[in-house]
Parts: sequence; C-alpha cells; structure tokens
Amino acid sequence: MSEFSMELSADQVTLRDWVHGFAEGVMRPAAAEWDEREETPWPIIEEAAKLGIYGLDILANAFMDPSGLSTVLILEELAWGDAGLCMSIMGSSLAVAAILANGTPAQQAEWMPQCYGTPGDLKLAAFAVSEPDAGSDVSSLRTRAVYDEAKDEWVLNGTKTWITNGGIANLHVVVASVDPALAGRGQASFVVPEGTKGIRMGQKFKKMGIRASHTAEVVLEDCRIPGSCLLGGKEKLDERLARAREGRSSSGQAAMATFEATRPGIGAQALGIARAAYEYSLDYAKERRQFGRAIIENQAIAFKLADMKARVDASRLLVWRAAWMAANRKPFTSGEGSMSKLFASESAVKVTEEAIQILGGYGYVREYPVERWHRDSKIYTIFEGTSEIQRLIISRAISGVHIR
Ligand SMILES: Cc1cc2nc3c(=O)[nH]c(=O)nc-3n(C[C@H](O)[C@H](O)[C@H](O)COP(=O)(O)OP(=O)(O)OC[C@H]3O[C@@H](n4cnc5c(N)ncnc54)[C@H](O)[C@@H]3O)c2cc1C
Repeated sequence: MSEFSMELSADQVTLRDWVHGFAEGVMRPAAAEWDEREETPWPIIEEAAKLGIYGLDILANAFMDPSGLSTVLILEELAWGDAGLCMSIMGSSLAVAAILANGTPAQQAEWMPQCYGTPGDLKLAAFAVSEPDAGSDVSSLRTRAVYDEAKDEWVLNGTKTWITNGGIANLHVVVASVDPALAGRGQASFVVPEGTKGIRMGQKFKKMGIRASHTAEVVLEDCRIPGSCLLGGKEKLDERLARAREGRSSSGQAAMATFEATRPGIGAQALGIARAAYEYSLDYAKERRQFGRAIIENQAIAFKLADMKARVDASRLLVWRAAWMAANRKPFTSGEGSMSKLFASESAVKVTEEAIQILGGYGYVREYPVERWHRDSKIYTIFEGTSEIQRLIISRAISGVHIR
C-alpha cells in the first residue's frame, strides 16, 4: 500500500503541461473569434487531432491511469484554454462514454474510433437524450424505438433537443424508449451510424455561452438502423425488460449510466474556467491602480481573490476525489460525483462574476475575456443534470429519504 500523497506523478505533470501548451498556444488566441462566429471550429479540432488531443487514444490512455486523474487534468486545462472550444473537442466523447457504458466489447471496438475519425478526415459524434418535454426527467422520453423483427431493424421516431453536435455529427447515440410503460427502465441506447436516412438537424440554437460548440435539435423520422446498433445487444435488453416487468431490480437507466461516469469531467471543465478567471483577475488587480495604489491593496479586492482561490482549490479537491473514486470503482455513497459537479459549476459562476467585478468596466466588455468566461460558466449548472438535480442526488444519498 503506497503512502498517501497529493502530488501528481511525473507522467501526469507531463500530460497536464502538454495539454496546457495547446490550451495556451492554440485555444486562447482563437477563443474570442469562435465565440463571435458561433460555428464549429474545424481548424481548432483539426489541430487538436494532429497533436492527438482529439481522438480515442488520449482518452484510452487517460482511462488507464489508475488514479483517475488524467482525464480531469486534461479537461481542466482545455476549459482553461476556452470552454466553447473545449466542448467542441470533447463533445464527441459524450457519445464515446455512452458506448463504453452500454456497448458490448465488439460494439466498442467498432463504433468508438468512428466518433473521431482521423486528421484530415475528422468525424464528430453526439449523445442525444434530452427532449423538449424531457430534460431533467429523463425517464419520460417520448422518442420510440420499435423492433422490426422481419428485417432485424430498429425504427426510431422522435425529436431530441439541445444536442451538442446534434445533426452535424457523423454518428449519434440516441436514447429511446422501447417500452414506455417501464419509463426509465424501458429505455435503451442506439447507435445511428453515418449515412443513415431519417435523421436530420432541426433548429440550431443561439446561446449565451460556449458558443463555439454547436447545439441543435435532432429529428428522427422512421429512422431505420440495423439490429446490431442496439448497444448491449437484444438478448441483454430482453433480460433487462423482463426483470423490470417482474419488478426486480435492474442496473438502472441507460442515460444515467453515462452521466454518472462523466460528472467529475464536467466539474473539471467548470474548474478550468474558474481558474482562468481567478488567475486573470489576480494579475489585473496587481496592475490596475486607483487612488494611487494597486487595487489589490484594498481588502475588498484582496478578500475576493482569497475566496476565489479557495473555491478553485476546493473544486479541484472534490473533482479529484470523485475521479479517483470512479476509477477505483468506489460507490458514490454520498453522491460524490454530483458533489464535484455541483460545487465546481456554482463556484465557476461565482468566481467569474467576481472576476468581472474586479475588472470593473473592463470586465464587462468583449475586449477582455472575463465576460465570456462568465457566460461560459453558467451552462455547467444546467447540463448533465442541473444544480437542483445534483442536490436531489446528494440529499437522497446521504439521507436514504426519497426527497422530492
Ligand atoms: C448548451 C447545451 C448543451 C447540451 N448538450 C446536451 C447533449 O449533448 N445531450 C443531451 O441529451 N442533452 C444536452 N443538453 C440538455 C441538458 O442536459 C438539459 O437542458 C438539462 O438536463 C435540463 O433540462 P431542461 O432544460 O429541460 O430543464 P428542466 O428539466 O425543465 O428544468 C427546469 C428547472 O426546473 C428544475 N427542476 C426540474 N425538476 C426538478 C425537481 N425534481 N426538483 C427540483 N428542481 C427541478 C431544474 O433544476 C431547472 O432549474 C444540453 C443543454 C444545453 C443548454
């Protein structure tokens, strides 16, 4: 048994610094432009792919780190570079996480590389759960998947909304209801491969933040996919449905399995934004002079920075703990994954708001990055489970009471 240590290994430091170099050299200079353009930043993704930052290998290597920290180190640095560009680079990984959580080894080997493509022939992937009438309540999905036994095909119908890379992705993972009477336990995840007919983009959304990341509706109209596109396979689904119909316990909802695994990573991104805003406003407060002294010499400003730094570090500790627990298969008995996402995302909103205050008028204009960081931070309290839903998960876990 090794001694307890908070120090990163040499490999982790090398990985973190390498990703930081990309964040500082490629993402930071491009961030404002892509925020204004509100388009998928293909040249940045291409650059990331050439370096090996967009692709399966970096994630596969990170997953092999037994401490679980490599993934969150990468995400903190990318979001420090820019959250919108980070989401463009990492958006495909949501689909990969779904395939990893629900697919057979053969399906994982077939579909996961197709989520990224290769430099010069990039691919995007999307993970489509949310619907206009089913956001927080993922058990009430209306998108239906009906099995056509004669053709061994699944037929998907429904509308998904707020989907990252939705409609422009080459591969979509769609969560749909197979048996609506079973609510969340009657759902399954399906791969909709490139070139499938009956899937199209609906409305593209204009957003407050992470504007370099594409968000749109996905419309499924008699979308037929081969039987082999059901993640986990038909036999396993039939067993799961039978267990659910008999009222026996099952391993839970398809969508929830993905979200459990990705929450510390979402917290890590929020942490990256908060750290960016804290560092920027610390430097600014030392330089900016009013009343003949640097503004940091006023407790009113210095104490804000002390609180911001404490929140950044506390966020990191919660994110690292949850990442370590997930990698070591420790059950989240107190909702530790949710705690990391809740605290880091709300801290990012708070820290970026304080950063604007420290910069005064300069904080409010687009020539400076802090207003963008504040706009970007807000989504982290909403997607992959709102703050209210994280509090529900934590309070239910610690109390054993079905809090509503
Ligand atoms: C930019 C962006 C990207 C996204 N990317 C994806 C994606 O790639 N794939 C995907 O599937 N989805 C994605 N989403 C959807 C996102 O996950 C949902 O927006 C989120 O789950 C909240 O659902 P909703 O918007 O319908 O809000 P609602 O569920 O309608 O919630 C509205 C409010 O009610 C509160 N509330 C709801 N139920 C309860 C309750 N039981 N107790 C207390 N409060 C409650 C919520 O916390 C919230 O404050 C994305 C959203 C955005 C904005």
